[in-house]
Amino acid sequence: MLYAFLIFGSLILFFFFSAAIISLREKETRASYIFFTAGFLLSVPYFLFYVFEVPANVFVILIFFGLPALIFLFLLFPFDPVAKRIEISPRPSHRFDERDIMFSRRRLKPGTARFEDYYRAHPEKKVLDDEWRRKPGLLNPKSRFYDPVWFSASESSFDTVEILHPYVNGVADKNRQNFDPQKITAFIKDWLLRSGAHSVGVTVLQDYHLYSHLGRQEPYGAEVLKEHRFAVAFTAEMDKETVDHAPLAPTVLESADQYLKVGVLAVKLAAFIRRSGYPARAHIDGNYRLICPLAARDAGLGEIGRMGLLITPELGPRVRIGVVTTDLPLITDSYKPDSTVIDFCSRCLKCADNCPSKAISFDDRKFEQGVLRWKINPEACFGYWSSAGTDCARCMKVCPYSHPDNLLHRTTRAVIKRNFFARYLAIKMDDVFYGRKRLP
Ligand code: SF4
Ligand code: SF4
Repeated sequence: MLYAFLIFGSLILFFFFSAAIISLREKETRASYIFFTAGFLLSVPYFLFYVFEVPANVFVILIFFGLPALIFLFLLFPFDPVAKRIEISPRPSHRFDERDIMFSRRRLKPGTARFEDYYRAHPEKKVLDDEWRRKPGLLNPKSRFYDPVWFSASESSFDTVEILHPYVNGVADKNRQNFDPQKITAFIKDWLLRSGAHSVGVTVLQDYHLYSHLGRQEPYGAEVLKEHRFAVAFTAEMDKETVDHAPLAPTVLESADQYLKVGVLAVKLAAFIRRSGYPARAHIDGNYRLICPLAARDAGLGEIGRMGLLITPELGPRVRIGVVTTDLPLITDSYKPDSTVIDFCSRCLKCADNCPSKAISFDDRKFEQGVLRWKINPEACFGYWSSAGTDCARCMKVCPYSHPDNLLHRTTRAVIKRNFFARYLAIKMDDVFYGRKRLP
């Protein structure tokens, strides 16, 4: 029996100290300290029993072995009646007009006919937009978190993405290759993953993936036509350590760099498909015809969470998305709504709590144009960006799903997907280990 105390105590010590070392490597000193302390405090009684050879009665055995085993089994047991009751949102039945997004409105120049026309049609947006227009603006030297080096590097990355714009589309080669859809889909996925993508999926291109009208490209206001049958969506990881600087200057450079990365991957994939004789278009920063998170979700890459971003299984919202649309026959992936993410977001609210502009809703999902979802306040969010000078990303930084994809967090993610109690415990524990409010 005494050896059981020694083995159990060692297991506890091993588990907690391993978690502490992983946290230390993640530079999460608070989590590391708590894991070390918990490991020490929880294992010491077992070692005391062993060292002093205390006789164990039934009560001691139940407390020291039965109780931990029961908790352990209860958390690991697949039991999730809650997720089954979560209402699944209907698919959108309308398209979103790109002219209404903040990046399109930002391009409107006061005094121009386009500016006047837009606000004549949307007078309710004028007051809101006047407010952020008075602020310095993204990557502006007068903004709050201005840093000459990081801002200039970010501008350089965004400029490089723009250099790619002429290559997003082109004419397909006249000689069409006959590919086996299974093989070419596997090849494309493997190629993108080897080129630095984190995840890749394929979906049938839906009407609602596409914008209704152009807002950032010419001809402004032109109707977006559905030209292709499939969309290949992929993600690139945003570096955790850099995102942890949010909302300071390094995050905006990380965003710019990952927009560039997915931009390069999308342009090269589209070029390859066109060389093979099929039409293909890359959708990259500033030059989209569709809403990337929707296409990525339907390609099975994640679920849309409270902050409106795609929550991927391994990296949460800490990704940038690239998409290529094409007529090349491909094998599609299936999207299964992830009720566990919706349930987690319903209770977590950490992004809403940490959002400096209060742009993220604390309420439950609501029906917006037939879609059950959380809607962020884009003017408030963009207003903060305009004074910060960066794209903020505090919501991304604090999201419990954003933790690195290592053994510790992979195990947690697997457990919270199967057991609602573990999910609720994980929300509380994330606050304990990493803090509820995470300041820059
Ligand atoms: S921080 Fe919490 S509520 Fe917000 S998206 Fe992440 S899991 Fe959902
Ligand atoms: S980016 Fe910043 S301001 Fe915008 S929603 Fe996220 S936390 Fe809020």
